[in-house]
Amino acid sequence: MATNRSELTTYEYRQLRARILAESDVCLVCGHGAATAVDHIQPVSKGGARLDPDNLAPIHGVKGCPVCLRKCNNEKGNRPLTDVVQLATSVDWFAGP
Ligand SMILES: [Zn+2]
Ligand SMILES: [Zn+2]
Repeated sequence: MATNRSELTTYEYRQLRARILAESDVCLVCGHGAATAVDHIQPVSKGGARLDPDNLAPIHGVKGCPVCLRKCNNEKGNRPLTDVVQLATSVDWFAGP
């Protein structure tokens, strides 16, 4: 019954997050900078590695993106980031057909 939330606050995870954000703060969902959080590309609940730097990418956290104002992490929910990014780049979300 472990929750992700307790895992996400471990020292190890925070170190990893700092390292990833130091390398890049470009949000994987909207493509703008100033990301303040990282998220798993493949969710841990779906078998993704929790502390693998290759499975973590910058994303806008609770404050959202200062450029497009999207709450990228909220939008993503628990879907794999790869799905979200594909949607964002191949489908026009805002204007229907
Ligand atoms: Zn974003
Ligand atoms: Zn943005």
